Amino acid sequence: CGIVGYVGGQSALDVVVAGLKRLEYRGYDSAGVAVLADGGLAAAKKAGKLVNLEKALLEAPLPAGSTGIGHTRWATHGGPTDDNAHPHLDNAGRVAVVHNGIIENFAVLRAELAERGHQLDSETDTEVVAHLLAECHSSAEDLAEAMRQVCRRLEGAFTLVAVHADEPDVVVGARRNSPLVVGIGEGEAFLASDVAAFIAHTRSAIELGQDQVVELRRDGVVVTDFDGAPAETRAYHVDWDA
Ligand code: GLU
Repeated sequence: CGIVGYVGGQSALDVVVAGLKRLEYRGYDSAGVAVLADGGLAAAKKAGKLVNLEKALLEAPLPAGSTGIGHTRWATHGGPTDDNAHPHLDNAGRVAVVHNGIIENFAVLRAELAERGHQLDSETDTEVVAHLLAECHSSAEDLAEAMRQVCRRLEGAFTLVAVHADEPDVVVGARRNSPLVVGIGEGEAFLASDVAAFIAHTRSAIELGQDQVVELRRDGVVVTDFDGAPAETRAYHVDWDA
């Protein structure tokens, strides 16, 4: 339902959780975060309100990192449980993905993955994306290319945001029939389903177009279509008060 991604000089966890709070008005049933730190990936997720997640984070803190993603879920496939909450990880725990929308062909993809030896732990349509990204990443040049390859296989409506422990300074996003906005700061960048998540930090935004993938780094963003062709982007100024 709500998505936030961050890379920059601040604590990713703080920025992401604050961003999710700004999106709370949209309604949700679970929440989760993932951060890249110390060469690895750490995640936490909880059914219920953000306070449940915050309590879990106090009891079992995540390592500090400057790259992270977060999600508030409105369940469509699988009940509102801790396991079904996002982020979803691959079996090696190197990729984390959050998703808004519905992957229509998830059952076919799930069966294919199971046949190739993947173990899927949730009832969501989303989890297949983490496993597919991990597979594609092993042969693709980077996470953005892996995301393009995966998106070409997905049917339905989706905003996807992902991180990979091998690329500690990168957040990748993609969208089809579901919104995703990039926020450009000084030495930091944001991704969100709604500008409300980042206007406390920057008012410079880029609306991602249909069927586009964005690679987010501290010093800028690269946008392409699902085939890798560079896309034109134009930043606009967000001038409403929130
Ligand atoms: N279809 C996904 C799920 O049920 C994402 C739902 C959402 O947009 O929050 O987990």
